[in-house]
Amino acid sequence: MGEAKRKAKLGVAASPCRGCTYCCTLPEILALDKPMYRPCGYIAAQASGAPGCGLFGAPERPGTCRAYECAYLTAQRTSHPDRRRIPHPLDAGAYFHKDPLENALVVFVDPDRPLAWKSSALVEIFRSASVAGMPLVIFDRGRRMTIRTPRHYEEILRRDMVAFADAQGMPREIASFEAERAPQPSATSSGSAIP
Ligand code: SF4
Ligand code: SF4
Repeated sequence: MGEAKRKAKLGVAASPCRGCTYCCTLPEILALDKPMYRPCGYIAAQASGAPGCGLFGAPERPGTCRAYECAYLTAQRTSHPDRRRIPHPLDAGAYFHKDPLENALVVFVDPDRPLAWKSSALVEIFRSASVAGMPLVIFDRGRRMTIRTPRHYEEILRRDMVAFADAQGMPREIASFEAERAPQPSATSSGSAIP
């Protein structure tokens, strides 16, 4: 049973993820032995046709997946005042959450649209956080940037630091970026939940 049908049966509203799978693709998920940038093998088409979690509601679904929400989803679920301010991740080309341990905003950027967030409402959200002293940790095209000052943030907005580093031949911090972005064999690998 797909996610939408399961939710309908449980009387739960359809997911506001709207087919987004960023948090199932971009971060490392240790419980699934999944490196950064590799799509989780359990991503599967739902009843609506949109991709979603093929393990939704199943006991095998890792606890980290059950517990995770990006800031957009949390704002929608809790009717937070920021729910109209935080753009949907697919609209912004990036998603984020607040890391309570690091007391930082952690941002994952879609490597296929790496500059999209710079013309989205995320710019002002991150600027406000930076001015308030909140560090930003941005994962972008295999690089991890920690931004601790508003001045550094404005510099990041002005310049494509990743392109600059690439042009300088600087090695990426996240080795899995190249491997996972390489063209994949067309045949579906065994064990994948993707139909
Ligand atoms: S990043 Fe947010 S909107 Fe996208 S799949 Fe994850 S929780 Fe849903
Ligand atoms: S198990 Fe489901 S929620 Fe977790 S990463 Fe895979 S598809 Fe996403």
